[in-house]
Amino acid sequence: MADEVSVVSCLFCRIVAGEVPSTVVLETDRVLAFRDIAPAAPTHVLVVPKEHHEDLAALVAADPAYVGQVMAAVVEVARLEGLVGGYRVVTNTGEDSGRTVFHLHVHVLGGASLGLVAG
Ligand code: 5GP
Ligand code: ZN
Repeated sequence: MADEVSVVSCLFCRIVAGEVPSTVVLETDRVLAFRDIAPAAPTHVLVVPKEHHEDLAALVAADPAYVGQVMAAVVEVARLEGLVGGYRVVTNTGEDSGRTVFHLHVHVLGGASLGLVAG
């Protein structure tokens, strides 16, 4: 968990709270999946824990079982989106990844042959 100040200002916490609009694909008691605002593939959904955790390492450290709930939602999103041809799952961690939002999010990309770099 992050401190209160970063949670209040966190974009994805604000999406989870409904303060910033999003197009929701799936919601469970602990996970939200919504469409990326700038899709990098025909289907591009972000799957996030509703609770604020900065990245995958933080979530593994805080609550490893929660990772399973997030990844189960990823698989369910792929099923709901009809990604029968396959899909890519990406989560950026750390400075070198180029990530821009500091709340764990798993990109689910599909709907086309993705090549080597999408995501
Ligand atoms: P990152 O680069 O941190 O792994 O990915 C952040 C993702 O969040 C990007 O793909 C970006 O398009 C997406 N994003 C940024 N702001 C918003 C927003 O306000 N709403 C939605 N739905 N996606 C956003
Ligand atoms: Zn957050």
